[in-house]
Amino acid sequence: MITNKANEGVWQCKCGNIDYGEFPPEDCPKCLRVNKFKKIPEDQIEDLEAEEILSTLEDEEEDE
Ligand SMILES: [Zn+2]
Repeated sequence: MITNKANEGVWQCKCGNIDYGEFPPEDCPKCLRVNKFKKIPEDQIEDLEAEEILSTLEDEEEDE
């Protein structure tokens, strides 16, 4: 199945968790809050993804 990302929104929870889809997730798997997702404007999506990648790398370094 091919997903057309152009038709999807990007949603960010208050805790920083990011999800993709036409509609926001009802609850956050990370912080377990409900209805805390807000839609991210398209011009901010690239910055968010860069931050998420950076924070993931930092987490991995902490394991050493
Ligand atoms: Zn959350």
